[in-house]
Amino acid sequence: MTEREIIDRVTSEGRSVLTEIEAKELLKQAGVSVVDTKLGTSREEAISMSQQLGFPIVLKIASSDVVHKSDAGGVKLGLKTAKQVGKAYDDILTAIKKQYPEAKIEGVSVQKMARPGVEVIIGMSKDAQFGPVLMFGLGGILVEILKDVSFRIVPLAKRDAKEMVREIKGYPLLEGYRGQEPVDVANLEELILKVSDFVEHNPEVAELDLNPIFAYSDGAIAVDARVILEATP
Ligand code: ADP
Ligand code: MG
Repeated sequence: MTEREIIDRVTSEGRSVLTEIEAKELLKQAGVSVVDTKLGTSREEAISMSQQLGFPIVLKIASSDVVHKSDAGGVKLGLKTAKQVGKAYDDILTAIKKQYPEAKIEGVSVQKMARPGVEVIIGMSKDAQFGPVLMFGLGGILVEILKDVSFRIVPLAKRDAKEMVREIKGYPLLEGYRGQEPVDVANLEELILKVSDFVEHNPEVAELDLNPIFAYSDGAIAVDARVILEATP
């Protein structure tokens, strides 16, 4: 499906929140590298998909009514066998049905466990005055507690992306801290520009979050994606 087809389908269903799978599909179309993610609609399907993808596997709740998946017990990491995948499937559905009895559950998202990297995030929200604004930061506590982030107004120029990455206090972590391999910063800059382009060309996107992206010495990959569309009248 093209970017337009994905957005139109969600809108035609009267929704504004995309599932993780739809959000990743959309960003993949925009050239952003995302963890290959499939929708499993039954326990058996989740198991056979994980065997196809190869272990270790991550299973997550797939429902546009559940936005914070791990808070609700909707994410299981590092599953190594078909048996573990089956149990994770049951545990996720039990936890979600308990906490969100009204949620419309599409199934589970089945994806490969990405190798660890430096966690970064790219977000977009709309400012009443400036319109779409991109945010960049390091993932986890650095963003949540220390608010170590940088902002630029869309559309970004190459120079903006360069500055944005270097402005955060945690930048030395990307350069390779205490023997850690340095991150491919040029690739992160390109990623920021791709997200800027995507936002510029899709005005119906109200909010976007790639949280986290795993950054490596040779590229980066988004393991979670959230996209919210403008409410349609
Ligand atoms: P949430 O909706 O809670 O933000 P996420 O999809 O971000 O759910 O998953 C929670 C955490 O699990 C992530 O911050 C990341 O550290 C880890 N994670 C998620 N997906 C993967 C994956 N495919 N590979 C490795 N780690 C992952
Ligand atoms: Mg997340």
